[in-house]
Amino acid sequence: MHAPRIIALANQKGGVGKTTTAINLAAGLAADGFRVLLIDIDPQGNASTGLGIGYENRRRGTYALIGEDVPAADLIQESSVPGLSVIAADTELAGAELELVMSERREFRLRDAIARIGGDYDVILIDCPPSLGLLTLNALVAAQAVIVPLQCEFFALEGISQLVRTVNSLCKSLNPGLKLEGIVLTMYDRRNNLSELVAADARGFFGDRVLETVIPRNIRISEAQSHGQAVMVYDARSSGSQAYKALSEEVISRLALKTGRKGKKQG
Ligand code: ADP
Ligand code: MG
Repeated sequence: MHAPRIIALANQKGGVGKTTTAINLAAGLAADGFRVLLIDIDPQGNASTGLGIGYENRRRGTYALIGEDVPAADLIQESSVPGLSVIAADTELAGAELELVMSERREFRLRDAIARIGGDYDVILIDCPPSLGLLTLNALVAAQAVIVPLQCEFFALEGISQLVRTVNSLCKSLNPGLKLEGIVLTMYDRRNNLSELVAADARGFFGDRVLETVIPRNIRISEAQSHGQAVMVYDARSSGSQAYKALSEEVISRLALKTGRKGKKQG
């Protein structure tokens, strides 16, 4: 069986581009023929909405999956992007941090649920909430790789050391296979010296763990989300679309992602 590669998008800061990167990386991979599932584990549910799954057309979702052991097959729905499936954030997810504290194997709920999904997907992306609580922990225990979006803004690097410590400690305990695969610089503004400074700082500190692709600040990216679409569907020629396409290519080669789809070339 072809086991999926599981990638978490995490950063305990809000507004840094986790959800945007989850949506558009997922769409880029789907466009390349990968079978992609996005699991929205952020109670805010922005990844679900941003992929055209509003509250009115939403099935039950990630809480049912990890809190009630509902089979994934009953929760998975198609998004506005062909080939990209989603398990949406359901409203009960907001209470999950507290509720799961009492449950058995509380850090493993998501990993266990994903193990039951089987070989239908090549890649599973998990969009994390802006905290290092139990939901993010579930994502980091389920994942093999973490990608950290870093906004090119003041204090960008602040707080990232906490995340790195968490990843390192998980490597020594609950999830030895976990790797910090990359830091993605987001909302880069060429006209702003600060962006350049933050990028240089990040590269100085993290070296080649900073991905080469830089995501520019581009209004089409946020417009696309408000229309429930990935930017490459909404405006394929925009700088945002091109950047996320490049990012997917870089992630495919860096993580050596492969599709188990029949008739599709491998790697
Ligand atoms: P997070 O998930 O880390 O909280 P989001 O991905 O939701 O962050 O991004 C925060 C806001 O910034 C959203 O409104 C999003 O549309 C916008 N945004 C993200 N990336 C870009 C970008 N490259 N250019 C313009 N707006 C962006
Ligand atoms: Mg988000």
